[in-house]
Amino acid sequence: MSVKAYGAHAADQPLVALDIQRRTPGPRDVQIEIAYCGVCHSDLHTVKSEWAGTRYPCVPGHEIVGTVSAVGSDVNGFAVGDTVGVGCMVDSCQHCAACAEGLEQYCENGFTGTYNGRTQDPPGHTLGGYSQRITVDQRFVLRINHPKEQLAAVAPLLCAGITTYSPLRHWNVGPGKKVGIVGIGGLGHMGIKLAHAMGAHVVAFTTSESKRQDAHSLGADEVVVSRDANAMAAHAGSFDFILDTVAASHQLDAFTSLLKRDGTLCLVGVPEHPHPSPNIGVLIFGRRSIAGSLIGGIPETQEMLDFCAKHGIVSDIEMIRADYINDAYERMLRSDVKYRFVIDIASLAA
Ligand code: NAP
Ligand code: ZN
Repeated sequence: MSVKAYGAHAADQPLVALDIQRRTPGPRDVQIEIAYCGVCHSDLHTVKSEWAGTRYPCVPGHEIVGTVSAVGSDVNGFAVGDTVGVGCMVDSCQHCAACAEGLEQYCENGFTGTYNGRTQDPPGHTLGGYSQRITVDQRFVLRINHPKEQLAAVAPLLCAGITTYSPLRHWNVGPGKKVGIVGIGGLGHMGIKLAHAMGAHVVAFTTSESKRQDAHSLGADEVVVSRDANAMAAHAGSFDFILDTVAASHQLDAFTSLLKRDGTLCLVGVPEHPHPSPNIGVLIFGRRSIAGSLIGGIPETQEMLDFCAKHGIVSDIEMIRADYINDAYERMLRSDVKYRFVIDIASLAA
């Protein structure tokens, strides 16, 4: 079945309108008419081949929400008309230790990404959510319980939401904990909302003075402009946990030095170029850690969606047409988005 999509033919080419093929649903498949798709910085890294291994044509998009339009004969959890989501993964081996624990993102045999992953379907790699329809194994489909009118603002939860929720939970963020969120972009603004809802004392770090007031509205108790050395020094040795969402290479010492003894700086940003090597003295004298975290498993993604529905949490979005995507990427590179672009997929038909 041919559907309309938006994607790139090469790293140095803009995204353009494309026609792509979607498979007919197999017994365990759910076919989804996509309503909205969020725009993640990972889409931009991949389209521009900033990480090795982009396959073209590249149709990005892994913050997908829509409506079920068909189900296979063995599908039991979903029915036509259900409101559902798809995040960063569409398959995994299902028999390794990680999959057995519901941590499919750490599948020992490699999960299949929603885009740029290997598949039997044409053209041999997966094509993502900047498209009208997707067909996904039921195990990778999420249930959405937010009110219908919030659907577009729910889309970014499928990546930005889970990528911040998972480490916040893993490192036991909650009341009595002082938590930093670095970079107020798509991920960072969700990190602020979620850490606030979990009851932590939240400090937002930004390079953009213009985001100071917003950061407070998003739930930050304090805001620090990270270029201000004095403001940074005032927080030395005081954090239990800092989540770094920055999409570009930068000095990590500025943040490890703000951790308490045994504190952790968790990196989720995946910049094109490596960070300068951190000062290991800062780590050793204080038993501090630098860690990383990758999205979240399917059970935890459902838990996050339910947590957000219960607490009334959605993303702050700017809705765009698909043909604005190249401008949107330019603005994302300038940190000029408040705080997530979401494509109205109906614009693909127009
Ligand atoms: P984004 O919306 O572009 O936000 C990144 C933010 O980082 C910017 O808004 C800006 O915030 C800050 N920033 C940008 N350039 C900077 C620089 N040179 N120095 C300091 N701060 C800078 O991106 P995103 O969609 O949130 O994604 C962030 C990163 O996470 C990307 O690398 C993405 O690929 C990665 N990611 C990882 C995972 C995972 O599972 N680990 C999942 C999704 C995405 P301020 O204006 O506040 O400074
Ligand atoms: Zn993403």
